[in-house]
Amino acid sequence: MARLLTVLLAMLLGAAAVFGADTRWSRASTEHFVVSGDAPAAVIGQLAARLESLRSVFLEALPRVNDRSLQRTFVIVFGSDRAFAPYRPAGVTVGGFAVHEPFMPCLVLRSDRADPAEDAFRTVVHEYVHVLADEPRMPLWLIEGMADYYSVTTLSRDRRRAAVGERIAPHVAQAQQWWVPLPQVLETPRTSPLANDESSMSFYAESWLLVHHLMRATPEKGSQIAKFIDRLSSGATEAPAFEQAIGPPAKVEVALRRYLGTLPLYGVERPVARSVEDAAARARPMTPAEVDATLARLSFHLRRDGEADARLEAAIGADASLAEAMVTIGMLRARQGRKAEALTSFRRVVALDPADLLAAYRLGLLALEGGQPAREPSFEEAYAALSRAAEGRSRLPPEPLATLGTLAGRIGRLSEAEPLLRQASGRDARQPATRLELANVCLRIGKFQEAREILSGLVAGSDSLVAPSARRCLEWLGLAEARARLRAELAAIAGLSDAGPDRAIARTGTFPSPPRLRTPGAGEERRLGLLDAVDCPGAEFIARVSTLDGAVSVSTASFAGVHLSSARDDVKGSLPCGVRQGREPVYVTWKGDHQLVAIEFLPEDLQPGRALPSSPSPCSAALPPSVYSSLGRREARPRTASSRRAVPQRAAGTFAVTCSTQFGTTTRPRRSTPGHSWSGCTKATPRPSGVSPPSAAMWDDTASDCGSAKAMRGTVARASPPAERIRVDMIRFTPSR
Ligand SMILES: [Zn+2]
Repeated sequence: MARLLTVLLAMLLGAAAVFGADTRWSRASTEHFVVSGDAPAAVIGQLAARLESLRSVFLEALPRVNDRSLQRTFVIVFGSDRAFAPYRPAGVTVGGFAVHEPFMPCLVLRSDRADPAEDAFRTVVHEYVHVLADEPRMPLWLIEGMADYYSVTTLSRDRRRAAVGERIAPHVAQAQQWWVPLPQVLETPRTSPLANDESSMSFYAESWLLVHHLMRATPEKGSQIAKFIDRLSSGATEAPAFEQAIGPPAKVEVALRRYLGTLPLYGVERPVARSVEDAAARARPMTPAEVDATLARLSFHLRRDGEADARLEAAIGADASLAEAMVTIGMLRARQGRKAEALTSFRRVVALDPADLLAAYRLGLLALEGGQPAREPSFEEAYAALSRAAEGRSRLPPEPLATLGTLAGRIGRLSEAEPLLRQASGRDARQPATRLELANVCLRIGKFQEAREILSGLVAGSDSLVAPSARRCLEWLGLAEARARLRAELAAIAGLSDAGPDRAIARTGTFPSPPRLRTPGAGEERRLGLLDAVDCPGAEFIARVSTLDGAVSVSTASFAGVHLSSARDDVKGSLPCGVRQGREPVYVTWKGDHQLVAIEFLPEDLQPGRALPSSPSPCSAALPPSVYSSLGRREARPRTASSRRAVPQRAAGTFAVTCSTQFGTTTRPRRSTPGHSWSGCTKATPRPSGVSPPSAAMWDDTASDCGSAKAMRGTVARASPPAERIRVDMIRFTPSR
């Protein structure tokens, strides 16, 4: 019984898969078309070659090309009305129609109507022009007028010449009988449903007439249309853009009515740039799995999900690596809201065919959409797939362009993200999500003014999904500006020309929280700076900090009362005495005569010059070995809370300090005698005004009569100290992250 059922099922599926036992399906694939059908193989091949040649004519002749496909255009050709009828949508009276899904064009045609003179073929070509020329901002009259104007393109027998823009007699008759005022045609919105009634027919006729007039009868020969689209793209509204690029509607209307009586019969001849020979588009027999996948695709477009499912199951059952079936499964599941299954399918397609733009784009959308626990594609995965698939494609439609830019931004590739988002936003300024992403990138690369303008616009705008994100982004903008000021000041203290890119805010979705700082008390003074050294001569601690106003030395006899906090992972537990090789950014607070109150270590990501690890420290001390060793060893290992040890006496004598800055290098002898002061003029060039002083830890800039040379002064704080004791448990670090 079970066996009989299987046989019956197989017979049923077989019968459904192929229409009539004697029909053979064949397919011709060219660069931009996949033509499949049960029509004779020669017809299939010729149609593919003809469509490819027409495409090359359109690419040259259209005022603006915006290819809206992410796949080769899928064309299904039925050889008979018996095969075509089951798929003909209600209301379609001619033998051809289009069933596009976004970015997934599909044209259906009866082969006996594939003659250029036939309405069926003209309908299919009209729909194909829509695929090639649909700028998001173009008004309906221009979209439909251009599609009709180019739909009557005929090719010479050898396909080397084309005639574009023949007269369409029914349109002329319609416009003569039923004239709709031109302003009404121009104002018809893109969402307007066009039917078979008189005014809709006149809308098509007059739209075509207007495009025909602009392409043929004006001296500009179509360049006005390009100008009009450019104005729209740069944000102009339709009416003024029309008036500026084309002319006052009333005047244009008069010209049009006059043109109606003098319309030329034939098209304009032009060479075909890339004519495709029949041999290059020869059809081959299709496998049963491919036939099932083709009809599944058509059922999917016609929203016959049950039929699509059965066909897809049969196709994948016969050929598990059939990428075209896998794409349709992904699209079907995505439409049904079955995201996990959609994701699995798109991943398989990307693995099978890395050039499949549609699958890679959908993978990107799923990554950005999120919400699929554990199976979510990472931004990196989606970015890699989409950028690989987009290789070699010169002009992506704005949506995948925005997706690619958004993904690049999310993974911190800001220099790639910015132009992509700018381009996407420029081509379709109505997309608030793209504007938000662009603002996000601007914020991260320091273009604060532009980010603020975009975000303020979005907050005030009508998009309820984007506005809250824009508001949050504005808060981040404030933080980013504060960070930028902090980083700029620290870079200036470090003697760097600029702070460089802020890597900590490169990625979208994260923002480092600002460090929590102690509020200075009355009579206290706080400065931002770089901690150069902690000197521990005798029982005293001296923190030497470079600030924008020069070097500051603050001291304390005991750390007991000093507030120490760190937002860094590498400064924890103890504060060794000696030169700070890292020159960490700190806030140092003191009171009275430089009496240390607090040292607050700022996060590592604020470290100036972090992105330039090879940048040398501006100052290096060249000390005699004895002194060096006593300083260097002093806190070579972290102390424990209970450790008390004697510190070796520092040798007295002379040593040299070399200071290398962008202004030059200078070496000064210094005596380690306590209280020894020195001063002098260096050979360094004078500091230009507005530039922060070199971070010479021990030197102050003082006004002195050194002429154009720089005055320097320093004091040896203490030397030869007695043995001292340090209790490390007095050094407290409060985590502030
Ligand atoms: Zn149309």
